[in-house]
Amino acid sequence: MKELYQKLGIQEKVYSYGQQFEEKLKDRFAELDKTAEYNQLKVIRAMQAHKVSAECFMGTTGYGYNDLGRDTLEEVYATCFHGEAALVRPQITCGTHALALALMSNLRPGDELLSPAGKPYDTLEEVIGIRPSKGSLAEYGVTYRQVDLLPGGAFDYEAIAGAITEKTKLVAIQRSKGYQTRPTFSVAQIGELISFVKKIKPSLICMVDNCYGEFVEQREPLEAGADMIVGSLIKNPGGGLAPIGGYIAGKKECIENAAYRLTSPGLGKEVGASLGVIQSFYQGLFFAPTVVAAALKSAIFAANIYESLGFPVIPDGSESRHDIIQAVTLNSPEALIAFCKGIQAAAPVDSHVTPEPWDMPGYGDKVIMAAGAFIQGSSIELSADGPLRPPYAAYFQGGLTWPHGKLGILMSLQKLYESGLVTLF
Ligand SMILES: *Cc1c(COP(=O)(O)O)cnc(C)c1O
Repeated sequence: MKELYQKLGIQEKVYSYGQQFEEKLKDRFAELDKTAEYNQLKVIRAMQAHKVSAECFMGTTGYGYNDLGRDTLEEVYATCFHGEAALVRPQITCGTHALALALMSNLRPGDELLSPAGKPYDTLEEVIGIRPSKGSLAEYGVTYRQVDLLPGGAFDYEAIAGAITEKTKLVAIQRSKGYQTRPTFSVAQIGELISFVKKIKPSLICMVDNCYGEFVEQREPLEAGADMIVGSLIKNPGGGLAPIGGYIAGKKECIENAAYRLTSPGLGKEVGASLGVIQSFYQGLFFAPTVVAAALKSAIFAANIYESLGFPVIPDGSESRHDIIQAVTLNSPEALIAFCKGIQAAAPVDSHVTPEPWDMPGYGDKVIMAAGAFIQGSSIELSADGPLRPPYAAYFQGGLTWPHGKLGILMSLQKLYESGLVTLF
């Protein structure tokens, strides 16, 4: 084994440094396998309940009327995530699109959107109009209000209560930390926040940005009172197989609004061919629980290694997990770049290329991204990225299998070690 790692470029010192942590983490890994088992059963049960059959994988073209595979998959998602309905489509191009769709279809001019958990994900700034952008909610007369988290990361309940007015229509809660160094919220915490705001105003629509959160816990936000959950199929629920797509699941009325916005008033869910990708949506959902467990093992392994070397990590090595993202604060651009180069060098695809910082559409700062993925940009596959701004945090996520995740982290450590950025004892 050691020899093969050496052939891949991992020095013995780096390998044995990693081994001690794998040994220590045995019990935690067993817990993750239990959650995966629970969620695997949940997915199979939903597929059985809706009689998924070989005909579902045929796909349609053109208008896509009576697409059995598409309609059945949407029922499977609804059941699996405890919603009344779902919209799961290759025509939803990414997570940002799914979120924009959920917001723009459920808000009307004069309404106000509230973010009670601080600044939303970078790409949503342009959707909302925090950074002026063509077609933003602001251009359509939807106003925005934000309540920042308290120092330490808790919800500022008093300020949230003060921010809810008669204009407030929709509350957007981001489960995952995204490109921030705040904690990720558990489903239970999100549930408390939802009960709080609904007590003040029962008609509020509570939307959870569920990106990176699916299948991490046994419960999903719809079970804790959310009206809509929204995510990307090239993250957790696509299981690494879906080549494109996004989903919205939740209350029937919210989903209908989204469907009429995605296609057209009058058409809604009735059109939208599933083309040749529908089988990968099913099979990806089937794999998702174990893929998420592999990604979590990789994240926890990384947290323990980098924490031991004195880098601030969020979550820390022993904390419980609510998403698959691991933030490692590397303190310098050199270390951030070396870390990303290691992840890239461990990939099955494009291991020979070197990632460079670039101006990525939708982001305010330069971003460096490492990914050698089968699906371009897929972040359920082993990947690391981070904006080139202090504190130079790398956001590390994914890993379709644990052995690949482990190799990636060891390779990142190798690059830092080679550049003299860390000392190993
Ligand atoms: C990835 C992500 C998004 C945006 O998804 P894209 O597919 O990159 O457009 C939004 N919110 C969170 C929390 C995310 O992690």
